[in-house]
Amino acid sequence: MNKEFCPECNNMLYPKEDKTEKQLYMACRNCEHVEEAMSNKVVENVFHREFTEEIDQETAKDMTMDPTLFIASVKCDRCGYGYAVYFEPKGNNPDLELKICYICKKCYNIWM
Ligand SMILES: [Zn+2]
Ligand SMILES: [Zn+2]
Repeated sequence: MNKEFCPECNNMLYPKEDKTEKQLYMACRNCEHVEEAMSNKVVENVFHREFTEEIDQETAKDMTMDPTLFIASVKCDRCGYGYAVYFEPKGNNPDLELKICYICKKCYNIWM
C-alpha cells in the first residue's frame, strides 16, 4: 500500500472510516486535513485481517501498533481506555463474518 502524506504538514495520512456514509477517508493526525481515499481496494486491504479466536497477546499488541488499522474512540471494558483499533476479521469461521473486532490500544483486550 502506498503511504500518503498530508499536503498541509507532510505527516502520514491514516485511513479513517465514516460508518454512516460508508466512506473511507485518509486523515492527518497532526492537522485537520482529511481527504477521500482513492478506492475501495484500500478498504479491502486495510480493513480485513486474518483472525482466529485464539489470537495471542503479542499478536494483539502488534496489531494495535499497525498504523494502517482504523482507530475507534470506544471505551475498553477492562481498562477504561478510550481508543481501540478495529477491523473486520477474516478467517474460516463463518460466525465471525460481518463482525467488528476491537483491540484496546492500552491493555490489548480483544472484543467484538
Ligand atoms: Zn496535516
Ligand atoms: Zn483496555
